[in-house]
Amino acid sequence: MRLEQAKKLHAVAVIILSLGGTVAAGVLARRWGVGPLELGLLGLMYSLSMVGITVGFHRGFAHGAFEAAPWVRAALAIFGSMACQGPLIYWVANHRTHHRFTDAPGDPHSPYFHGSTPLRGLRGIWHAHIGWTYSHAIPDTVTYAKDLLRSSELRRLSGLYFVWVGLGLALPALLGGLLTLSLEGALRGLLWGGFVRIFVAYQISLAIGSLAHSHGSRPFRIRGQSANNALLALPTFGEGWHQNHHAFPYSGVFGLEWWQIDLGAMVLRALEVLGQVRNIKRPPESAISARLATPDTDWGMEESPAERAARHVASRNTSLPQ
Ligand SMILES: [Zn+2]
Ligand SMILES: [Zn+2]
Repeated sequence: MRLEQAKKLHAVAVIILSLGGTVAAGVLARRWGVGPLELGLLGLMYSLSMVGITVGFHRGFAHGAFEAAPWVRAALAIFGSMACQGPLIYWVANHRTHHRFTDAPGDPHSPYFHGSTPLRGLRGIWHAHIGWTYSHAIPDTVTYAKDLLRSSELRRLSGLYFVWVGLGLALPALLGGLLTLSLEGALRGLLWGGFVRIFVAYQISLAIGSLAHSHGSRPFRIRGQSANNALLALPTFGEGWHQNHHAFPYSGVFGLEWWQIDLGAMVLRALEVLGQVRNIKRPPESAISARLATPDTDWGMEESPAERAARHVASRNTSLPQ
């Protein structure tokens, strides 16, 4: 199957199957109810997917925001794949393209540039939220993810994408079956820890591209329309502090103020305490206050975040086959 067809089929399948499974879960909940089993597996699998996406795919692999033990890197790649947002290397190349062309032509999921019709605002939100998953250009992995392509470990983890997606469905089914010693429990686990979890995590993640590029506060004067959206911060494990991220893409910490709750950064700190993660990057206070005080729409133009991230990660992978 050609990549273009696979991309479109993937986009439609994730939406239809996760929505269909969620409706089925709702219908069956009238008979079985929604109890600790359903909510526990939903919460567990949601947390694993969200940590995989924000800590692994985004902060770690796309931006090189920290160094991690090999088992942590592998686990983050697997958990992130369970979120059904595409294979790791594809995701990273696409995301770095977003940083390179933020809210300008070439950005795969900007809510702007959708003609001059009265409905352009809504069309833009639709495109940035879900439309782009079907219509975006296949990302150029050779240009934007060269550092990951050089790693045989990451190529293998990325290539096994559908195995990890399957694991994300099988694991809650298995747990549901074992906890209740019944097939009915396995089905409840599959529906709530699998399909409902994918639906909720997918839609909330996509809201970063749509809502966190259109609604929220913008303390920094930087390129693009990224915004800090406090409502999204908690369910996205910190991704809601999206303008902070665009201002300092290399930072492993998205919540820059003490009150900006960032669960992803907390997970990173916990792994650091356990000795499994080190060198978590964070902008110095002087850089934060300089960017707050000095409006400059050229911030980040000197070297794109993608290029900086690629250079940084590549420098760590020099022992891997070239
Ligand atoms: Zn963005
Ligand atoms: Zn980013």
